[in-house]
Amino acid sequence: MYVGRFAPSPTGPLHAGSLVAALASWLDARSCGGQWLVRIEDVDTPRCSATAAQTILAQLAACGLAWDGDVLWQSARGQRYQRALTALLQRGLAYPCGCTRRDIAAALAAQGRQHERHGERPYPGTCREGLNGKPARTWRFHTKKYMENRASALMQQALPAIFLMNEHLLHWQDRRLGAQRQDVAREVGDFILRRADGLWAYQLAVVVDDGEQGVTDVVRGEDLADNTPRQMLLQAALGLPTPRYLHLPLVRAADGEKLSKQQGAPAIDVSRPLLALAQAAAALGLPAAPETSTPPDALAFWRAAWPHFYNRAP
Ligand code: GLU
Repeated sequence: MYVGRFAPSPTGPLHAGSLVAALASWLDARSCGGQWLVRIEDVDTPRCSATAAQTILAQLAACGLAWDGDVLWQSARGQRYQRALTALLQRGLAYPCGCTRRDIAAALAAQGRQHERHGERPYPGTCREGLNGKPARTWRFHTKKYMENRASALMQQALPAIFLMNEHLLHWQDRRLGAQRQDVAREVGDFILRRADGLWAYQLAVVVDDGEQGVTDVVRGEDLADNTPRQMLLQAALGLPTPRYLHLPLVRAADGEKLSKQQGAPAIDVSRPLLALAQAAAALGLPAAPETSTPPDALAFWRAAWPHFYNRAP
């Protein structure tokens, strides 16, 4: 049984780029008779608003993108995330960290490392063995320990189908991007599960929820592709299955930048849902729907075309 989802962060209304992810995940689910869930990813409460969430739901409805069951709200799920963190702590796969950004920069400089990734520095592991009297600020996943232990365990058993790893590299297959790999320990290091402001990190919330909702297929924008190895590690560490992944081409503004709510991309015009849908379908490379179509006809037309565009390999 296929279970897909659309998981917007309600930091603003849907724009042309987020509608592409909504449409593609809907088409992928509906073209095989699967379920399509909507999850509002409002863990980062200061950046999210309930009004934006309601607007997104109304925009989806206006476009005819109907979802199954109740909408899941991440802001109501702190206890689930805490349970997952506790399970990781008990197994030594997560640890509290007392480092400030300045401490991290100093430790990296002392190791002669300058590497910056999206302005975020891979954590050098200072608090792995203990806090040394500092108060805990964040909680981190012990990437290095998990990958080393897992790599040695895998020597003795059959490898999982979707991703492979040794102690450094995680290899995985994306339905559109093909073979991908990341040196998780070097590129992202021991990543944050609970932030210094007490909020849950996206990585943990998304993995716990995809697992609990039984999501079999994640269809989302390509800008999120490099989060996938972290999510795969967490899934494996929490004993959750790994879904298939399809990362979509990004819609770019005239200046070549990715459309984003933060940069004020305009909301889709729900008074003309067919136009908004047609633009999203074109961004996905789908053929134009017949001119006389209504939104439901156009959706049915693209649903029939979809399997020829992004097939769902095992
Ligand atoms: N909430 C994320 C976003 O709006 C998407 C998360 C996901 O699809 O995994 O960018």
